[in-house]
Amino acid sequence: MRQPETKLKRRSARGILLFILSFSALLWSCKREDLEEGNRHLESTVILISFDGFRWDYLERADTPNLDYLVQNGVQAQALIPVFPSKTFPNHMSIITGQYPENHGIVSNRMYDPLFDAFFWIGAESEPARDGRWYEGEPLWITAEKQGQIAATMFWPGSDAEIRGIRPTHWSYYDGTISREERINRVLSWLDLPRDRRPTFITTYFEETDNWGHEYGPDDPQVDSVVQALDGTVGALLDSLRIREYLDRINLILTSDHGMTGLSRQRVVFLDDYIDLETVTVVDWSPVTAILPAEGLEDTVYHALDGAHPNLSVYRKEELPERFHYRNHRRITPIICVADEGWSVTSHEYFDTHVDVYSGGTHGYDNRLPSMHGIFIAYGPAFKDDLMVRPFMNIHIYELICHILKLNPAQNDGSLDSVMVVLEE
Ligand code: AMP
Ligand code: ZN
Ligand code: ZN
Repeated sequence: MRQPETKLKRRSARGILLFILSFSALLWSCKREDLEEGNRHLESTVILISFDGFRWDYLERADTPNLDYLVQNGVQAQALIPVFPSKTFPNHMSIITGQYPENHGIVSNRMYDPLFDAFFWIGAESEPARDGRWYEGEPLWITAEKQGQIAATMFWPGSDAEIRGIRPTHWSYYDGTISREERINRVLSWLDLPRDRRPTFITTYFEETDNWGHEYGPDDPQVDSVVQALDGTVGALLDSLRIREYLDRINLILTSDHGMTGLSRQRVVFLDDYIDLETVTVVDWSPVTAILPAEGLEDTVYHALDGAHPNLSVYRKEELPERFHYRNHRRITPIICVADEGWSVTSHEYFDTHVDVYSGGTHGYDNRLPSMHGIFIAYGPAFKDDLMVRPFMNIHIYELICHILKLNPAQNDGSLDSVMVVLEE
């Protein structure tokens, strides 16, 4: 029996509708898979982590299964040599620009700029640290952004400033009270962004090893506990990357800006034993003393200090050892004194009114001293497995990361050749 025509039409209409529906569902699921697949696809990515003041030998001090995992499956340098002075801001800027401080302009944590007639200092909410005019180098986040990549900083000294009119796409003002977990979560949240908004270069920073090293000195067991806690944070990051199937596809670089050495109130040089402090501005005190003598008094001050104390080396700016690469900037003062390892420079008044200082630990000394050296650990597809390399200077890290991210490096003092050995290719 023939079907009535209307019924037939309705049936074929339903068929067509079903066909369209199932076809679009198929298309939609393919598209979603494509999207997910696309999202899972990772461009060459680098996470750069700094553990402030993490000395090269701290790894031996505690149970650190996560750091050990990275070392065993990646590259470790016997030590990372800081630039002079071995202070936080100069070194973080050298890592991120590849330049010596005399070229990137952050010649210390405390500076005076005669052109600006202004002082620079550091710390959360420091106004000058957020002022781009102090920074003369090109941080890697700018190199990346200028060349169409996305950069993100969950803290890095210098990242609080807009430099040359550019900031990382994602960034935060430095706040030491934000927990380690929160910092890691922020990094992960950026990795979870869709592919077109996901950063390829991410930094983060942890200050505890520096804080505790200053407070108790590098040999105190409290430092071991901090190292262990930081290892736990690294473990949490590795687990989160593993869950996302990113662990073997992301490059992780762990660094530190300098090491730490012990101080004593028995090892102190009093500047006012030799010069009248009214005749100078002491821009930075210890262990590298930056002295700006009053007009016409440079020779007098220099001769009064030179050879005055056996544990204090005194230099005119032009005569600083060449290996310091520390002469050619207006922010380097005419007279620079460098204390011997473990010695401090102060005044009688300051010493007597601050009973807690000049004990514990510090850094800033000659960058050749092993105690000032930091760490370099790198893990990921770009790096060799289970390799220990000789100590190298932190200025080479900029070129290394530019190479991994396929970025043209800006003018800098480092060279890829110096660190080529760590690369897998
Ligand atoms: P240092 O005095 O050389 O040991 O420097 C360590 C200190 O640098 C930390 O304790 C912080 O107070 C400070 N610091 C770290 N990151 C930043 C930042 N992004 N902005 C300002 N200060 C910072
Ligand atoms: Zn530091
Ligand atoms: Zn410090």
